[in-house]
Parts: sequence; C-alpha cells; structure tokens
Amino acid sequence: MDVIFFGPPGAGKGTQAKIIEDKYGLKQLSTGDMLREEVNAKTDLGIEAKKQMDAGALVPDDVVIGMIANRIDSRECAKGVIFDGFPRTVAQAEALADMLAKRGRKINLVLSLQVEDSALVKRIEQRAIQEGRSDDTVETFKKRLDAYRDYAAKVLPHYNAQAIVKPVDGMRDIADVTEQIEKILKQGSSDSSPACAMG
Ligand code: ADP
Repeated sequence: MDVIFFGPPGAGKGTQAKIIEDKYGLKQLSTGDMLREEVNAKTDLGIEAKKQMDAGALVPDDVVIGMIANRIDSRECAKGVIFDGFPRTVAQAEALADMLAKRGRKINLVLSLQVEDSALVKRIEQRAIQEGRSDDTVETFKKRLDAYRDYAAKVLPHYNAQAIVKPVDGMRDIADVTEQIEKILKQGSSDSSPACAMG
C-alpha cells in the first residue's frame, strides 16, 4: 500500500509516519529529511536547496522527484511507502503516479492532516527549541504556511478527483491521531483487496 501524508508544516506528518511505518512494514520517504541530509553533508544539491528551504519556498521538482526515484526500488519500499512532504506540486504528483504505475502500484490513500494555524505556530516554536532547524523561525514559518496553502489548493483537488483523500483531525493527541490513521488504513486495504485479487 502506498500512501501520502499531507498537511501543513507542524501537522505531525513525520511523527505519525514513524509510528505507522514500524507497525505496517511501510517505509517513510520524507523529501524534507532527505534535503536536510544533503544540506548537512554540504553536497552541491544541499547547498542549492538550502537557499529555497530557508526562504520557505519549494525546491525544484526535478530535485525532489530524483530523490524519490533513487529510493523507490530499495527493498524497504517493497511493501509500500509513506510519502511525507511529497508531492507538493501537480508535476510531482504526476511523476510519482508514473513511477508507481511502472511498478504496478498506485497511491491508495492521501491522509490530509488538519491542524489550526495557532496550534501549528506553537508546535513550530517548540520544535525550533528542540531541533534548531534553520527554517523554523517565525518569519520562514509564515512563508512555509503560505506556500502550503498555495500548493494544497492544487495538489488536493488532483487527488480529490481520484476520491482517495481522507481527512484526519490532527489537533488530537498523538495516540488519537495514530488511531484515526490506522482506521483509515485498515479500511483502505480492505477496499483495495478486490482490485489486487483481479491483478
Ligand atoms: P514542513 O512540512 O514542516 O515545512 P519539510 O521537512 O517537509 O517541512 O520541508 C522543508 C522544506 O524542504 C520545504 O519548505 C521546502 O523548501 C523543501 N521541500 C521538502 N519537500 C519538498 C517537495 N516535495 N517539493 C519542493 N520542496 C520541498
């Protein structure tokens, strides 16, 4: 099963992905985490990407699509992937659909985590203290939130047309959010099983 965790910065995508990947044998692929690894390793890609990340803007599609393509065939991804922070554009969504289709797979579900802006601000302030991410400043966070609104308005309708978007109340505590996600995943895997049986 291949799923997307979709939501604004600070919605808890990464937190939930880490819990769910262990339980379901799925692999979390976070383009944000991959980009931060490149930044830390001071690769050419990382040095270039850091400019956009620190501005709260998107890095180019070909960069993130390439990073996903490099990992999709790893053994850990065989049972399915939790895409976290990807896709953020319709072009990324289309590239992902192509990649999966070539492997006889598709996005089964898009879990859309909903959190109020005021709660996001508090979470990011907390994360800034704990993790020290250079894009977790008040100013850059505002830009990331604007960018999110902008790309969500394009990417969500793309998946809504496939009727695979499921809302998740991300305001609840971590265990409660996990419970909501598990219910949707169980439902989703039983929905998709007849199609699998037919090949
Ligand atoms: P958050 O969702 O909390 O903003 P991420 O770790 O997902 O954080 O992303 C951090 C930054 O990395 C983004 O602001 C953006 O610059 C870049 N980035 C991550 N994923 C993508 C993507 N799929 N397309 C373009 N840029 C991306």
